[in-house]
Amino acid sequence: MLIDLHAHTSGISKCCKISAEENIRLAKRLGFDGLAITNHYTSQYFDSKTYGDWIENYINEWQFCVKLGKKYGLRIFCGIEVTMNEDDRLHMLIYGADSDFLLNNPCLCDMSLPQLYGVCRKNSCALVQAHPFRNGTAVQDTGYLDGIEINCHPLYKNSFYEEILKIAGDTGLAVTAGCDYHADSYRAYGGTFLPDTLTTDSDLAEYIVSANRFEFQIHDPTDRKIFRIEYSRGQALKS
Ligand SMILES: [Zn+2]
Ligand SMILES: [Zn+2]
Repeated sequence: MLIDLHAHTSGISKCCKISAEENIRLAKRLGFDGLAITNHYTSQYFDSKTYGDWIENYINEWQFCVKLGKKYGLRIFCGIEVTMNEDDRLHMLIYGADSDFLLNNPCLCDMSLPQLYGVCRKNSCALVQAHPFRNGTAVQDTGYLDGIEINCHPLYKNSFYEEILKIAGDTGLAVTAGCDYHADSYRAYGGTFLPDTLTTDSDLAEYIVSANRFEFQIHDPTDRKIFRIEYSRGQALKS
């Protein structure tokens, strides 16, 4: 099944121009089998006084998306995209988190990467660096990452898929793919092919942490071509 592992909804992500319902309906119409809802988790949206109310909305949006997924026949996974305060260009995707994870960890943005990775390990979540190379960001210390993402966001003109697969091949990291859809350009048709048997957020996290083989559909913003790639963990891309 083809799952776009990076999607936003306007209920939480202020930069996103499409509602959860419109986004889920569109993904279904285009032929996706599922989405991971990875709304922005950024200290721009809350402070220590407002975190409780804000995170309640964040969790409600997850649950709303899961309900809509059932209505429209689309599998919905609940993820997070954390903006790191040490460098706000650095965004980290977390898969496998639940509401307790969010309620018990109110300052994910303030953490260093090793701290964030430690929290993810403790809670059996997968930590993936979103869109490496965007805005000049480097791949971070791969000892504190489970994976790196190929991002098909049309506004950024380059998915950097070759660079990402090279680093993953050298380091043994997992690779995921998603479109980072915000409704600000065409709806890219990229994602990660996952086994049908994978149904829960924990299944998804475990898959990212431990699977040996990954397959993607890339919708490359450079030339708008759509193509498939297979990657085996720790192996160079065959050309
Ligand atoms: Zn991002
Ligand atoms: Zn994003």
